[in-house]
Amino acid sequence: MNFAILTSGGDSPGMNASIRAFVRSMHFHGHKTYGIIRGYSGLVENDIHLLTPKDVGNIIQRGGTILKTSRCAEFMEKKYRQIAFQNLKKLKISGLCVIGGDGSYNGAYEFHQETKMPVVCLPGTIDNDIKNTDYTIGHETAVQNAIEAIDKIRDTAVSHDRVFFIEVMGRNSSALSQRIALCTGAELSISPKDNFPDEEILKLIERGQKRGKKSSIFIVAENEKAGRSYDIQKLMMLKHKISSHVCILGHIQRGGSPVAKDRFFATLMGANASEILLSSSRASTCVALCVKNEHIKSTPLNKCLSKTETYSRDIATLLVKLSV
Ligand code: ADP
Repeated sequence: MNFAILTSGGDSPGMNASIRAFVRSMHFHGHKTYGIIRGYSGLVENDIHLLTPKDVGNIIQRGGTILKTSRCAEFMEKKYRQIAFQNLKKLKISGLCVIGGDGSYNGAYEFHQETKMPVVCLPGTIDNDIKNTDYTIGHETAVQNAIEAIDKIRDTAVSHDRVFFIEVMGRNSSALSQRIALCTGAELSISPKDNFPDEEILKLIERGQKRGKKSSIFIVAENEKAGRSYDIQKLMMLKHKISSHVCILGHIQRGGSPVAKDRFFATLMGANASEILLSSSRASTCVALCVKNEHIKSTPLNKCLSKTETYSRDIATLLVKLSV
């Protein structure tokens, strides 16, 4: 039989490990896999190519996605989803694996509802904000990338007695910012929803100063668009005469070689996706793979279509406790 795989939405480190495992597992069972280029765009435009086990060699350690990814406005329309389906039918594709975030999940769900094409989704996003899973592919690497960068910034912050606002990715998710803050010993993680808590920031800076601490690091979640740290910096200067520096980590967090946990779960999930497509009653297969208590389980896709609440009050409280 023939199957297809695509990566969609934001790229995340570990996607390649899933592609490799899916293709090789299908090959092991005697089936072919087609790679769809640039996510749903390639599906609509028929940019679909056979992947051999050799094609997915030497990629397990690479960030990004060899299949490339995109955001595809056309796929929101039924007309284009039908064109996409015809493209899969021409190749006699019996099932589709989609790796992406909740947006990609919604696309896969609509597609399945209309075409009954069997679908297995894997959570590929650094934001760790998909419902019903503790983990998403790429999150660990993004946290690690940020930690390594911030440890370097800390050297300068301490040497020059500086206050730093370091902005991290994650859009509306607090999962990255809170974990990064905890792992870097930051004073506070300013969540995407926070309306610049300048009085709290001031209190923390002054508390540190009282005991001779002259540098501070605050982690800022980016929210919808990067750059809001500059607004905080301005406010702190105008209102409190606190001078500070801003560093926006940006896409550096997404790139690079995936860490062990991302390679591990991405590989297990890729192989698992192929087993599900091969073994289940195919026309009704419409699931997402989730991680719960370090175990992978398949969950009906319609239970995973929205984002989950990522803000942890416990971590927020702990950060303040520890930043004495
Ligand atoms: P992510 O998967 O990382 O959350 P996006 O939210 O940008 O990224 O979604 C990726 C793509 O999924 C979109 O560009 C679009 O092609 C498709 N998509 C998202 N929502 C829907 C939907 N409701 N119906 C059909 N396709 C959708």
